[in-house]
Amino acid sequence: MAKRTINSKLFSEAQKYLVGGVNSPVRAFNYVGGDPLIIKRGHGSKVYDHDGNEYIDYVLSWGSLILGHAFPDVVNAVKAAACDGLSFGTTNIKEVELAKLIHKAIPFVEKIRFVNSGTEAVMSAVRLARGHTGRDKIVKFENSYHGHADYLLVSGGSGLATLNIPQSPGVPRSFIKDTMVLPYGDFRKLEEAFELHGREIAAVLVEPVGGNYGVMPPDTGFLRHLRKITDRYSALLIADEVITGFRFSFGSFMHRSGVLPDLICLGKIIGGGLPIGAYGGGGKIMNKLAPLGKVYQASTFSGNPVVMQAGISTLKVLALSGGRYRQIERFAELLSSAIERAARSCNIDLKVSRFGSMFSLKFERKDDFKKFYRGLLRSGVYFAPSEFESNFVSFAHTKKDIDDTINLIRVILAKI
Ligand SMILES: *Cc1c(COP(=O)(O)O)cnc(C)c1O
Repeated sequence: MAKRTINSKLFSEAQKYLVGGVNSPVRAFNYVGGDPLIIKRGHGSKVYDHDGNEYIDYVLSWGSLILGHAFPDVVNAVKAAACDGLSFGTTNIKEVELAKLIHKAIPFVEKIRFVNSGTEAVMSAVRLARGHTGRDKIVKFENSYHGHADYLLVSGGSGLATLNIPQSPGVPRSFIKDTMVLPYGDFRKLEEAFELHGREIAAVLVEPVGGNYGVMPPDTGFLRHLRKITDRYSALLIADEVITGFRFSFGSFMHRSGVLPDLICLGKIIGGGLPIGAYGGGGKIMNKLAPLGKVYQASTFSGNPVVMQAGISTLKVLALSGGRYRQIERFAELLSSAIERAARSCNIDLKVSRFGSMFSLKFERKDDFKKFYRGLLRSGVYFAPSEFESNFVSFAHTKKDIDDTINLIRVILAKI
């Protein structure tokens, strides 16, 4: 398995023209070393490189592809939509259809605005919160990642954790002076921050389940407290559900947990694999956006018909798939517990963190993760190339995929 000679040549070529051979830093595999994967095609739970190697994929475009790669209903509908024109820059009925589907799944999203990425969704939701409240400060939590907007690149997870950049050069000090970073789950620090600055805080921004510093399971008590304290000070609660939206059920994590935010940010899954972001909430706040209100936000490609169709076709499948959500959760649980058991029997200090169908691994020694990771790639298993990124199970994964992965991992761990 896994000669990657063509892959190496292609990556050298990529490095000539793309910065580091990639268009997003974690893709470069800096954390684990070695050439990154250049993927040629994907079907179901598998991706294939140019050397003809097959990999069971647990990255799934960073959690976007809950149905797996090239799901036929989605691909066919996207083809048909493309044949009718790629972009209009006017309202098209697919936008309305996707908005309706999301409203049905997440009723507090009375109105929605589609954008092109999760980053844009969060940036725009924060602008709206500031415009609505007339306040400047925002609260975010340590190690949470909300996209790459300047003022949110403070103690971010994801690539920032992997590369150890506490805060990116190019972000002026003045841009982050209104960003308050607090430890997640710390009630006392939160109270103190609000006592000091409560009337200047526009919003608290939270990832209800952390997905960018390894999987951080939710603290529902803390989320409820966030709701209470933001209400007390008339600040908004913004849930960044770019990963968690439609990941655990047909809808949002917050809606299911009974803590309703004022605004929600979505992305990843709702685009069915095409670039998307969205933010939404109650009409009263959302109507402050232009053209009805004064808060400006615009984009050439927002609501693109082909993207909307990928989202519609994906959500329609998810709407009918209640039981499949339980299945992917069970698969992730099987994998996680088998990995932990195998590690224990080899005396390797390894923790698996899991919530629903998301999981991440943390080795006591980073070198062990690197060895483990190279073993995985050689055996045909593609995990996230960093301990800070999440892995995902999709509806396309079979019991055989899971069993095969477990057996391969047992062998790899025994060799470490
Ligand atoms: C991926 C992600 C984003 C950013 O989305 P992009 O589409 O990559 O811009 C924001 N927040 C969270 C929680 C994410 O996981």
